[in-house]
Amino acid sequence: MSTLTLPEPVDTHARRLLDTLPSSPGGAELWRALGAENLLSRVYRDHDPRHGIDPAALGALLSELDRRCSLGSTLAVTVPLATCLPLMASSTGLASSVLEAALGGRCVVALAATDESAGCDLASLGTEITFDDDGLYLHGTKRWITNATTCDAALVLARHRPGPHFTNFTWVLVPTDAPGVSAEPADTQLFEGSGTGHLTFDRVRVGHDHVVGGKGRGMSAFAAHIATERLAGALWAVALCERTLRDTARHLRERRRGDGTLWQHEGIRQRYASALLRARQHRALTENLTQAVAARRDSAAAATLKASAALTVEEVLDVCAHLEGAHGFRTGGPQALRAQAALFGIGGGTTEVVLSIMADAAPETLAEPGS
Ligand SMILES: Cc1cc2nc3c(=O)[nH]c(=O)nc-3n(C[C@H](O)[C@H](O)[C@H](O)COP(=O)(O)OP(=O)(O)OC[C@H]3O[C@@H](n4cnc5c(N)ncnc54)[C@H](O)[C@@H]3O)c2cc1C
Repeated sequence: MSTLTLPEPVDTHARRLLDTLPSSPGGAELWRALGAENLLSRVYRDHDPRHGIDPAALGALLSELDRRCSLGSTLAVTVPLATCLPLMASSTGLASSVLEAALGGRCVVALAATDESAGCDLASLGTEITFDDDGLYLHGTKRWITNATTCDAALVLARHRPGPHFTNFTWVLVPTDAPGVSAEPADTQLFEGSGTGHLTFDRVRVGHDHVVGGKGRGMSAFAAHIATERLAGALWAVALCERTLRDTARHLRERRRGDGTLWQHEGIRQRYASALLRARQHRALTENLTQAVAARRDSAAAATLKASAALTVEEVLDVCAHLEGAHGFRTGGPQALRAQAALFGIGGGTTEVVLSIMADAAPETLAEPGS
C-alpha cells in the first residue's frame, strides 16, 4: 500500500527555512531563499499566479515573515508577490520567462508605478514611452519604489499618450542592467531590508516584447490587481497587530509596579483591551471579505480592507508603543515599528483614496435585501 505524503504547511516550511537564514535577512535575500524552496509559488491557487491568490497560504507566509523579519524585508517580498507576479502572469513571451525566474527566486522584480508627480493621482504620472517600429524608449523617474536598489528588473507603468484617459498607460518590463537605468536609495533610515529607492530611466531602449499585458492596458490591469495587494496588506496587518499585542502583553506582565506588574493596573488593561478589540474587528472583517477580493477582485471590498488595515495598525501600534514607555524607543522597538507601519495608510493608495472608493460603493454595500 502506498503512503500518501501531505505537503508540509506553508507556515511550518517557512519557519524551518527562516531558521536557516541570518537573523535579519534583506528582502532580496529572503526572496531568493523563499523561491529556491518553492515557497513563493505556494501562495497562488494551483501554485500558478494566473489562477489568483490562495489567501490562507499567503496569510500563513506573511505571518511567519512578520514574526521573523524586518517590516522592510516583508514589504520587499509582499509587493512583487501580490502585484508584480500576477500582473506578469497575464502576459506571454519575455514576461512569462521572467515570471518563472522570479517564482524560483532567481529574479527580483520591482513594481514601479509612483513617479515624481503626486502618487495618489496615478493618471498624472509623467514617465513616457515612445514607440517605433523596432521597439520603444522609456524616459522618466520613479520614486519611493520597494526593491529599487536590489531588483533585477522593474515593471514600470508609463504613458504612451498625453492625458489622463485610462487607455493611455502601458506596463513595460525593464532589466535594471539595461543602458540608461539607474537606482539610488531613498533618503530614510526606515524600511531596512526593503531596498526602497528611486529609479531613473534615461531613454532606455527595449523591444516590443518588453510590453506586459498589451499597449493601453496598463491602468485596467493595475486596477484589477491592486485588489490583491490590498488583501495582502490586510492579512499582513492581522499578523502585525496580533504579534505586537502579544509582545506588549508580555512586557506589561513583566514590568514591575509596586508589589505587582503594570498588567494588573485596570486602566492599562482596559486601554490594551480596546486595541485588542480593534485588532479582532480587523481580523473578522478580513475573514468576511477575503473571498470577495480573492475570487472576484471586488474593488469596494478591497478598499474596505485597506482602510481597515491602515486605521487598525495605526491605533494598535500607537497604544502598544505608548504602553511600553521609554522601552518602546529601543532600537527595533514598537516606536520605530509604528513609524514604518504608517506605510499601511500610504503605500498602494492612501487611506483617503480608499475611503472615497468605499463612499462611491456605499449604495450597493448598503442595498436593502431584495431591492
Ligand atoms: C516605503 C515605501 C515603499 C513604496 N513602495 C512602492 C512601490 O513598490 N511601488 C510604487 O509604485 N510605489 C511605492 N511607494 C509609493 C506609494 O505608493 C506612494 O507614496 C503613495 O501612492 C502616495 O503617493 P505620494 O507619496 O506621492 O502622496 P501624494 O499623492 O503626494 O499625497 C500626499 C497626501 O495628500 C493626501 N491626499 C492625496 N490625494 C488625496 C485625495 N484624493 N483625497 C484626500 N487626500 C489626498 C493624502 O493624505 C496623502 O497622504 C512606496 C512608498 C513608501 C513610503
